Amino acid sequence: MNTTYDVIIVGGGVIGTSIAHYVSKTKKRVLVLEKNTIASGASSAAAGLLGVQAEWETYDPLYDLARKSLNMFSSLATELRETTGVDIGYREKGIYKVACTLKEERHLRQTMAWQQQAGEEAEWLTGEKLREREPSVSLDVIAAVYYPTDGHVLAPELTRAFMLSAARHGTDIREYTDVHRLLIEDKKVIGVETNHGTFYGEQVVVAAGAWSTPFLRLFDETYGTYPVKGVCIAVLSEQPLLDVPIFKEGFYIVPKPNGRYIIGATVIPRSFNQSVEVGDIAELLHKAKELVPKIEYATWDTAWAGLRPQSETNYLYIGKHDEIEGLYACTGHYRNGILLSPISGYMMAELLAGNESYNNLERRIHLGSTN
Ligand SMILES: Cc1cc2nc3c(=O)[nH]c(=O)nc-3n(C[C@H](O)[C@H](O)[C@H](O)COP(=O)(O)OP(=O)(O)OC[C@H]3O[C@@H](n4cnc5c(N)ncnc54)[C@H](O)[C@@H]3O)c2cc1C
Repeated sequence: MNTTYDVIIVGGGVIGTSIAHYVSKTKKRVLVLEKNTIASGASSAAAGLLGVQAEWETYDPLYDLARKSLNMFSSLATELRETTGVDIGYREKGIYKVACTLKEERHLRQTMAWQQQAGEEAEWLTGEKLREREPSVSLDVIAAVYYPTDGHVLAPELTRAFMLSAARHGTDIREYTDVHRLLIEDKKVIGVETNHGTFYGEQVVVAAGAWSTPFLRLFDETYGTYPVKGVCIAVLSEQPLLDVPIFKEGFYIVPKPNGRYIIGATVIPRSFNQSVEVGDIAELLHKAKELVPKIEYATWDTAWAGLRPQSETNYLYIGKHDEIEGLYACTGHYRNGILLSPISGYMMAELLAGNESYNNLERRIHLGSTN
């Protein structure tokens, strides 16, 4: 295997593999280093919601990026299927955001109003109208907004497809390779030191998710990521329960192929512990039953936890180091890294090719109201 590269990417989650996918198409020699296995971090824990309108309750600059990223999924799904044979399970059927109290209903109307003013599509539904489309939804739901352009994907498959596509374009991928430190000489990055030796590269990108802090500190002492643990569960139902995901205050039920429903997620900041507690499962099942009572008759599938990479400064880090030549970062995507993966990979490929307009470290992008 070659040990001198144009670009070395630290981290094999959806962000690292998306960068590898886009950069490898520019004929650069790329290496992805992953301390465990590809997609072993947050990226396979995600429910895969692509909720631009469902997630953003007020406008911020990241909204525009999220919208651009969502618009990339349709052609990306086709491209990845053709290149890798992997179906990323992209569904363009929208998301329902629901309200059970008058206060929640008022809040939904306010969010819908600014989105419609911004030219976005949104449809108001009474509880009855929603139940005509989704008969299993509880009578407790009094109103909903339908966001027809939101969607969802299979997050682990998306990451795997990015990885396979990058490999087809010549990227080397090394799993179980832990990057211990970056090698910097005369204010220029020259490679990385790992548990399997040294790898040399002209450009190094930090995409290590919740574990990025030691590398981000090279940019600024205030930069860092911290983990926000999230637990999800999955159940199986032969009887269809939902056609389209429903979303309420960060909680969601997402229908997946073969009668599988992902229910998520808990929010526990600053915990690297990835165990699933019985209380987490009880909390998620309780909320799910409130929205879809028939979920009680579903059968148990599985539960898991993952660590969302939240930014210490509340800004997404996409950019290059001011002084250390060849050093880049792309991390801090918190709860929307699956949604933001195509645009992040695309922007990093442009930036690595010298397109300075994609440097967002100086005008960092605020993570917005989803925190
Ligand atoms: C429960 C849950 C539900 C979610 N649902 C959604 C959703 O519906 N929609 C959405 O858009 N987002 C969702 N997210 C968020 C999304 O999963 C993340 O934003 C995204 O996966 C972050 O990707 P990443 O590549 O930055 O991080 P990760 O996937 O964590 O990848 C980072 C990788 O870097 C590796 N690494 C770390 N340090 C080193 C090192 N020193 N050397 C080598 N490798 C290293 C790690 O092992 C890891 O594999 C969810 C997250 C969770 C936890």
